[in-house]
Amino acid sequence: MTRVRWPVVGGGEGDGEVSKSRRTATFDHVGAGGRITPLESAMRYALRGVRVVPLHFPIGPPSLIDGGGDSGRLVCSCLELDCQAPGLHPLEPLEIDNATCDPVQLARWFAQVPRANVAAVVGAGLEVVELHYAAPPAQLAAWLSAQGVRLGPVIVAGRGCLDLIVFSEAGPPAEVEQLDLWRSGGSLFRPGPGELVVLPPSRFIDGSYASWLVPWEQAGMPPDRDQVLATVAGIPAPDRLAAWDVTRQDGQGVRACGQ
Ligand SMILES: [Zn+2]
Repeated sequence: MTRVRWPVVGGGEGDGEVSKSRRTATFDHVGAGGRITPLESAMRYALRGVRVVPLHFPIGPPSLIDGGGDSGRLVCSCLELDCQAPGLHPLEPLEIDNATCDPVQLARWFAQVPRANVAAVVGAGLEVVELHYAAPPAQLAAWLSAQGVRLGPVIVAGRGCLDLIVFSEAGPPAEVEQLDLWRSGGSLFRPGPGELVVLPPSRFIDGSYASWLVPWEQAGMPPDRDQVLATVAGIPAPDRLAAWDVTRQDGQGVRACGQ
């Protein structure tokens, strides 16, 4: 069964986190590697053999749609106010099975709905390790690199959620697997075939944007899945990671000054 996960929104602190996300949305979008359109994004990954499908997307505020309600909230473009996966389900009448690498079909879909969110489908050509961890993505990336992991393409998929694109001969697990990372308090998901991975420049319902921490174009081949899993299991808790990062940056500063 296909499942769509919400991005992690801070520490579950409610409205304060939503407004904070909105303030950082512009930065997040720039981090996507420029202002590429959803169609351009879809084409890039379709050319890599990754199947892509357009999704609904956040719109708002709802006061403009139904004449009332909480004007600060975005809603799903399906206009179902109780939508269970806002901005994260295929545009009707499409289904996940309709995802394709065909550029003509993608051009047709995104011509109809240029602002649609973009998702790739896990399966042949795409395997992902999804890390839920409450620390800045750049800190985490620096730590993984310091452990000898060559990072491949990495997507910041909402607050506290990183999608690391990986490679293995065996491919993704038959069904989603979840692992709690006891040292760091984070958790790790391995989506199975048919699950969606939201691609930049998609927007989440909290107003933030999916962005590339490491763009696919710069990353080259995705890294070995088992090496990524083994290293991620040892991530320290966020406060210890932050302390490690300060020490690292102090060291760089000393070298930069030539002392
Ligand atoms: Zn919806």
